[in-house]
Amino acid sequence: MYFTAARFYFLIFDYMKTVILRINPKAPEPRLIRQAAAYLQQDELVAFPTETVYGLGANALSPKAIRKIFKAKRRPSDNPLIIHIADTKQLYALVKLVPPSAEKLIRKFWPGPLTMVLKKSDIVPSEISAGLNTVAVRLPRHQIARSLIRECGFPLAAPSANSSGKPSPTDAAHVVYDLKNRIACVIDGGPTLVGLESTVIDMTRKVPVILRPGKVSQQEIETVIGKVNLHSVVSANKKINSAKSPGMKYRHYAPKAELKIIHGNPKAVEKIIRSIVQHSSAKNIAVLVTDRARFFANVSNVYIGSSAHQIAKNLFRVLRHMDDKKIELILIESLPEDGLGLAVMNRLKKAAGFNIINAR
Ligand code: AMP
Ligand code: MG
Repeated sequence: MYFTAARFYFLIFDYMKTVILRINPKAPEPRLIRQAAAYLQQDELVAFPTETVYGLGANALSPKAIRKIFKAKRRPSDNPLIIHIADTKQLYALVKLVPPSAEKLIRKFWPGPLTMVLKKSDIVPSEISAGLNTVAVRLPRHQIARSLIRECGFPLAAPSANSSGKPSPTDAAHVVYDLKNRIACVIDGGPTLVGLESTVIDMTRKVPVILRPGKVSQQEIETVIGKVNLHSVVSANKKINSAKSPGMKYRHYAPKAELKIIHGNPKAVEKIIRSIVQHSSAKNIAVLVTDRARFFANVSNVYIGSSAHQIAKNLFRVLRHMDDKKIELILIESLPEDGLGLAVMNRLKKAAGFNIINAR
C-alpha cells in the first residue's frame, strides 16, 4: 500500500487542521465563543487565554476528551489537571466538601490566580486527578475563559497549553508553535497578564499547604485564613520527588540552552558572570539582565524586567526566545524569594534543573 508522509503523520498523530480564532479579551464576541464551545462540546481540545498562561481546555466530565489533553501535550498520565469553572456554584458538584477556610479564600481571591485542592466527588473522572482522591479547581478572572466555560455548560480541565516540559505559553503564538495541527482550535486573546501559573494550595490538610507558589502569595493567604505551610519542594534548591503531588517531579519550563542561576551580592554575581563567559565553550551566550545599566561584553544582553512582577510576565516568553536565537548558555541572577519572587524563583530553578551557583 502507498503512504504519503502526510498520511503517515495523520495516522500516528491524529493530524487535524487547527482553527485560530481571534477574540477580544475585554469583550469576547459571542459568535466566536459559541464556535469555540462547539469544539469542546464534541470532545475536542481548545486552547484559550487565562490571566495566568494559556490553558488547553477539554470537557472535564468526559474521560475521552481528557485523554486527548495528555496525548496532545505528551503529558505523563500521573500528572493531575486543574479544573476551571465559570461560577462558584459549579465547585459544589466537583468536590465532597468545601471547608470554611476554602470559602474565605473563594470570597477574597476568586475569580483569580488561586487553585484549591479539595476532596473530589464521584463525577470527576479519575483521569483528571491521576488516581488521587482530590481535585484541583480554579475560577479564572479572564473574560474569554469565563465566557467559554459558561457557553459550554460544563467545567473545563485545562493544563498549560504547551508541550510537556516546555515553558508555559503566554501568547497564542507559543501555543501554535507547540500544538499546531494536534488540537482543534486556538483562541488568540493576546498576551496573558500574570505570565506564571496559578498558586496551588492543598485545602484538605488541617494546616493548608502551598504546593505551587504563584501570584497570590503565602502572606496574602495567611491574612485571610491564618497559618499555611509551604511544601518543601517549593523553595528547595535541589530536585525532590513528592508522592503528594506527582506533577511536581517532572522537568518543567526547560529551554534548549543550559541555564545557570547566579546567587549572591551584585558585585560577586557580576564577577562570576564575567568569569563564566570568559571560560565557557558555548558559542552563543545570553545574560538575562534585571538592571538596564548593566552590560556584559561578548554576550546577548536581554533585559527581562526589574521587578518580580515584570520578570514573571516576561520569563516564559524570553525562555522561548532563547530557543529561537539558538542560545546555548543562559545566565541569570537570582531574585529575593518573597512575594511573587518566590514563584519566579520556583519556575527558574526548575527551568535550570537546579543549576545554581553561589557567588562569593
Ligand atoms: P499545570 O496545569 O500543567 O500548570 O499543572 C497543574 C499542577 O497542579 C500539577 O502539576 C499539580 O502539581 C497540581 N495539581 C493538580 N491536581 C492536583 C491534585 N489533585 N493534588 C495535588 N496537586 C494537584
Ligand atoms: Mg503546565
